[in-house]
Amino acid sequence: MKPGSVTIKDDTIESVQKKGAALPVALDIEKAVLVPGLINGHDHLLGTYYPKVGDGPYENWLPWDNDLKSAPLYNERQQIENRDLYLLGAFRNLVSGVTTVSDHIPHFVAEPYYDILPTKAIRNYALAHSIASFALNWGDGVDVEYAKAVREDIPFITHIAEGFDSETVRDLMTLNRQGGLGDHSVLVHGIAFSESDMKLIKQNGASVVWCGDSNVYMFNKTTNIKMLLDMGINVCIGTDSPMSGGLNLLYEMKFDKALYKKLYGKELPDAQLLKMVTSNPARAFRLKKNGSIKEGNTADLALFRDRGGPPAGSVVQAELKDVLLVVINGRPVYGNAEYSPLFDKLGVSYKRITMEGEERVIVGDPVGLLKRISRAVKFKKEFPFFPVEFEF
Ligand SMILES: [Zn+2]
Repeated sequence: MKPGSVTIKDDTIESVQKKGAALPVALDIEKAVLVPGLINGHDHLLGTYYPKVGDGPYENWLPWDNDLKSAPLYNERQQIENRDLYLLGAFRNLVSGVTTVSDHIPHFVAEPYYDILPTKAIRNYALAHSIASFALNWGDGVDVEYAKAVREDIPFITHIAEGFDSETVRDLMTLNRQGGLGDHSVLVHGIAFSESDMKLIKQNGASVVWCGDSNVYMFNKTTNIKMLLDMGINVCIGTDSPMSGGLNLLYEMKFDKALYKKLYGKELPDAQLLKMVTSNPARAFRLKKNGSIKEGNTADLALFRDRGGPPAGSVVQAELKDVLLVVINGRPVYGNAEYSPLFDKLGVSYKRITMEGEERVIVGDPVGLLKRISRAVKFKKEFPFFPVEFEF
């Protein structure tokens, strides 16, 4: 990353210059770091709620899911329309600089919402829920879904090796036997991956999504991330839903960096963490026009407050208040109020909101959303990952 400027035409990055591109409005972005819009490698937008539920460590995902579904908080969440949970999940991602999220759910559930979300969810992917015999019945089976992924050049996404029981620890071998392991595979969690599993993953060119906070919360253990990275496997970072995972992707990067230090006594470099939320997921999810700032790519961008030092540190160390502007498909969608002239100039309608004492501008109607959610649960429900001030 160097000083310079980016010209956007329609939804595409038209040029990247070292200095002096013309902007449609004068913006002082001297003290800022521009990066590709962040990609959240794993989430369940329908599961966006707060706080976390569970009493781990669990043997696998199933007893956690049972605890979740019998919790009073789940019943509370069930009072809310699916559409509003989707919107809440999309706002949670957007305000943390995420322009694309991998929402893992059967397509018929998400399909009605893609066009109303303030940030993008990946539409085209093949999937399984997980690999063991107690997997939920998502998709048409591993072999059929993987073949579809190859045919359409889309990712095949599945939870895998998320736990310790005798079946789950063999998930990777099972996946391979079923024809689901290849360079289109995106493998989420992998807590039980062995060294030989990882060699197989590397040989096949598959990608892995690391959800450190969710793993530690549910299992008090995470994947052998050092071995994955040392082998040169393509690793992405995901938050998972906030009912098991981190508050948002900014929190998750910091958590994962600290976890790595705790586990291995070494620093996971900020530049590497930044790749794990930009170019690595762009490769894993086959988003060929995302993940880097270059001519011809989609103009999905995030601007962060410059904290000094190497630019990646300004992203990894960022809090919500440090996200200055988010642009999706060349259109501003969220930012500091000082960027409102950009929204006006481009004819993007927006609302003014207050978050953590600062005025912000944002597309959609977050206050209306938070009021609807509060009405549904019959008290003022607030979310630390989307701390918008509102009256109820
Ligand atoms: Zn998940």
